[in-house]
Amino acid sequence: MNITELTVHELQEKIKNKELNAKEILNAYLDRIQAREKDVQAFVTILKEESKNELEKIQKEKEELNDFDGIPIGVKDNICTKGIKTTCSSKMLENFISPYDASVIEKIKENNMIILGKLNMDEFAMGGSTEYSYFKKTKNPWNLNKVPGGSSGGSAAAVAANMVPWALGSDTGGSIRQPASFCGVVGLKPTYGLVSRYGLVAFASSLDQIGPITKDVRDCALLLNIIAGHDEKDTTSCNRNNIDYTKALKNDVKGMKIAVPKEFFAEGINQEVKSKLEEAAKIYEELGATVEEISLDIAKYSLATYYIIACAEASSNLGRFDGIRYTYRTKEFKNLKELYRKSRSEGFGAEVKRRIILGTYVLSSGYYDAYYKKAQKVRTLVMNQFKEVFNKYDLILTPTSPTVAFDIGSKSNNPLEMYLADICTVSVNIAGLPAISIPINVDSQGMPIGMQLIGNKFCEETILNAAYTYEQKIKFREKYRPEFKS
Ligand code: GLN
Repeated sequence: MNITELTVHELQEKIKNKELNAKEILNAYLDRIQAREKDVQAFVTILKEESKNELEKIQKEKEELNDFDGIPIGVKDNICTKGIKTTCSSKMLENFISPYDASVIEKIKENNMIILGKLNMDEFAMGGSTEYSYFKKTKNPWNLNKVPGGSSGGSAAAVAANMVPWALGSDTGGSIRQPASFCGVVGLKPTYGLVSRYGLVAFASSLDQIGPITKDVRDCALLLNIIAGHDEKDTTSCNRNNIDYTKALKNDVKGMKIAVPKEFFAEGINQEVKSKLEEAAKIYEELGATVEEISLDIAKYSLATYYIIACAEASSNLGRFDGIRYTYRTKEFKNLKELYRKSRSEGFGAEVKRRIILGTYVLSSGYYDAYYKKAQKVRTLVMNQFKEVFNKYDLILTPTSPTVAFDIGSKSNNPLEMYLADICTVSVNIAGLPAISIPINVDSQGMPIGMQLIGNKFCEETILNAAYTYEQKIKFREKYRPEFKS
């Protein structure tokens, strides 16, 4: 049995039947990290000794381990973990050790899960390839010359390479779904407010959500069970508690109404991606759902709207990194102003600075009305158009990304091209909706293709069931595995 190939629900089954124990599982993962990390480079911090000590502690406290006790997990490095570095893959926070746990981490710990390490990302979650990490470039386990996607590229690559059974990511404009799609795994961006953002280092607070990256849809539902729910420490947290999302996995989509917006299949989409998505729509029809083409024309303004709002919020949120408190501080400075300026100039990477400058510009008096205010108005239009669609349909089917994973270095010097790659995912965050990405096929080069299913607010159950039903039908994981080509 290859332990690290198993999903979490399979691991739980084996623990229950006494075929496996938590120590064997942890050791298998640590060995796997030892073997694969040098190629994949998914971790910023590996918690080898800490994870062993943690498991010993749990085993001392409990005689019999069950449920999630001792199950390992990886965490994106913008989610605060007490006593362990949280760097956001930035020089600015290279040595930052959080004095508290994010609320999702508290929940992970309440369930006695073991954190294996902190995972690489684009600096402050800005990017779509993980190439903007200050520390290292993560590789795509399916082909080491390709990016894993981003910004949660470390999380998706670690799951795909079997270095963690599952992971937490964050998604502001696609950062869970797009890397999941590029790495052939499952990623869910929950409805805004379903999962607490307390302790997630803020990028764009009105768009950010934490969510699961897993090997299959059942694991995705299981991890959502753990992290979802009200938290008084997050004022945007909603009152939805104790839902068992695995109950929604019915393996049945009969009568479900699925909308396919033609704008997501137009210009710019790779032909192979397009044809595999069209096949997927047909499979849903065979499974008993109705599939209809619709128009979601407001989507064409989503990208511009997203980049205005996200940069505006980022410019404000990143103001706290000033060289005074917990951040990087420049070595030499003559006065306070120079301390600020040099610390920020040296501590932030080029993409982060670009966003701060853009955001400051769109918020400046004279330009505020033309950009920021306008973007907020368009945001309302986007929400309204989605609302109309969900009056008639249960879910929306699109590609997760217009292409499969691209070559390392092919977009990193061209910010606009990198932004354009987010075209399929950003409108979901603008409207605060839930969406999942699942792998549906591979292209002629063997790279995974992802399908995005978007649901109405708090309809995670609908999209999980639809994703599960599709997964059961095509069995992607049984057919395809990363090959570690290099
Ligand atoms: N790629 C998008 C961006 O660069 C999304 C990032 C994210 O979701 N954190 O902003």
